[in-house]
Amino acid sequence: MTFTAASINWDAIATELAGIEAIADPNQLTKLSLDYYDFSPILAAQLGHKRANLVVRPTTEAEVLRVAQVCVNHRIPLTVRGAGTGNYGQCIPLDGGIVVDLTKLNAIHWLKGGVACVDPGVRLATFDKQARPQGWEWRMYPSTYRTATIGGFIGGGSGGIGSITYGQLRDRGNLHAVRVVTLEDTPRVLELRGDAVQQVNHAYGTNGIITQLEVPLAPAYDWAEAIVTFDDFAAAAQFGQTLSDADALIKKLVSIHADPIPQYFAALQTYIPAGKSCALLILAESSLAPLQDLVAEFNGAIAYTKPATDAQKGINLAEFTWNHTTLHARAVDPTLTYLQTFFFTLENVDKMIREFGDEVMVHLEFLRVNGKAIPAGLQLVRYSTPERLNEIIHYHEANGCAIANPHTYILEDGGRKVIDPVQLAFKEQVDPYGLLNPGKMRAWFEKYPPTA
Ligand SMILES: Cc1cc2nc3c(=O)[nH]c(=O)nc-3n(C[C@H](O)[C@H](O)[C@H](O)COP(=O)(O)OP(=O)(O)OC[C@H]3O[C@@H](n4cnc5c(N)ncnc54)[C@H](O)[C@@H]3O)c2cc1C
Repeated sequence: MTFTAASINWDAIATELAGIEAIADPNQLTKLSLDYYDFSPILAAQLGHKRANLVVRPTTEAEVLRVAQVCVNHRIPLTVRGAGTGNYGQCIPLDGGIVVDLTKLNAIHWLKGGVACVDPGVRLATFDKQARPQGWEWRMYPSTYRTATIGGFIGGGSGGIGSITYGQLRDRGNLHAVRVVTLEDTPRVLELRGDAVQQVNHAYGTNGIITQLEVPLAPAYDWAEAIVTFDDFAAAAQFGQTLSDADALIKKLVSIHADPIPQYFAALQTYIPAGKSCALLILAESSLAPLQDLVAEFNGAIAYTKPATDAQKGINLAEFTWNHTTLHARAVDPTLTYLQTFFFTLENVDKMIREFGDEVMVHLEFLRVNGKAIPAGLQLVRYSTPERLNEIIHYHEANGCAIANPHTYILEDGGRKVIDPVQLAFKEQVDPYGLLNPGKMRAWFEKYPPTA
């Protein structure tokens, strides 16, 4: 049945949820219903008006179970939210209902043997501050590190700073276990371990509310930062590939930006003259010395370095990479949008540059896929029409690249392209009424179309 908010007695719901923070103020509802969907002009038109009827902030798993029970009893849609930094409207409630904000479910339970057990609302940067003195840190994090939650990163993210060494979140071994609250007639908590975690990993909260996670960590190095400039992009890209392939140089970020993208980085203007392409790097401090010879080999120039002792001070280069590149560019020119592309080879990058020129400005992020460092990227696109955007996407796909389309809120139409029978089967088991983040999982709404 299609949900109608008017059929619900919201005062009665508030009474049933007494003791759990509930927000009904319209301004707050707007803020807590939306994410960074407006990086996409397509999603901006589709999602800007969507609102929850109520937002709740449970602080314990028991409170999450209570919210789940109320939603099941009254057949109210439930959409989980972390920090709301997702890019594809993942946590925007398409049918209204209750948004469950988990930022206050945020305890760090334990850290032992290089594994941490945490609540989903733990902010990524907050965790690292506590883990680093013990010699550990997250294996990877998005450029939204300071605000994003671990639950949201697992629910909606893919990888980021650290992926050059540890691959992507979906790779086996990057998530050990989760506890998940179901939306069955009597909601319960399930524990998933090993490959079973893939049932809810990157599922946009469509098939369970993650209430606890066991995440393996990385040894924490003393990380330094560097900007290297190049006269031409081809040299910058080759440098990026060679550094990414260099096993003996310890790194966490290899991010390459074609001219004119660096000109969008206001805070970096002192270091990157107009006309240059650049590499933004995070490396173990001990790798800075050998880096110099590699830079010389590609005729680059080290324009800036920040020692590990200054890690918490001044410019944070990570916040110019991954989708922060798009954020900075859009601050200057809001008509820009972006793509997310696996190029796989630098030949493919070159092919796309020759085809699209300045219409698609190349920003590469190197990451490890099945043991090999490959160029992926979040190119900036000078947007004109939806038809042209689709043409650009199809050209990439027809020429050896894979696009994780950031202009759709539907799970399967983004990166995956195919229906995941495992995630569908899990949803059938734990969310029989289809209440979790409705409208996001194609497999579900095609098999169980909503009735009037
Ligand atoms: C400027 C910018 C840069 C970004 N850079 C990156 C990047 O480098 N790498 C990257 O992967 N992403 C990136 N993103 C996307 C986003 O920031 C990340 O995916 C982030 O990890 C999301 O965390 P969040 O807490 O904000 O999650 P939210 O946006 O709140 O949620 C994301 C999804 O996860 C679901 N979810 C949240 N919590 C739970 C839970 N407990 N159980 C089940 N489902 C849950 C939500 O329903 C939603 O579908 C970027 C976004 C922006 C705006």
